Amino acid sequence: MTERAARKVPIRTCVGCEQERPRSEFLRVVRTPEGQVVVDRSGRTPGRGAYLCPSRSCFAQAVKKKRLARTLRAPVPDEVMRQVEEWLDG
Ligand SMILES: [Zn+2]
Repeated sequence: MTERAARKVPIRTCVGCEQERPRSEFLRVVRTPEGQVVVDRSGRTPGRGAYLCPSRSCFAQAVKKKRLARTLRAPVPDEVMRQVEEWLDG
């Protein structure tokens, strides 16, 4: 990757392994301004975001340490957890 590209890419931290990566490599889970927690496939949903590597071990760590809920400052519905798992399978 060139320096120019690297500077343009927003860097985020995984809620599982805490490694930094370009935002585009993560799955984003968002708490919307209405307080709803959703899986953000477009990367454009407004709200507070939590980022997760496409990795089962990161998901497991995030679940174990309750990092998703902590980062989002909201409980994460089972349906959202299921969607994240589906995304990891796909
Ligand atoms: Zn990770």
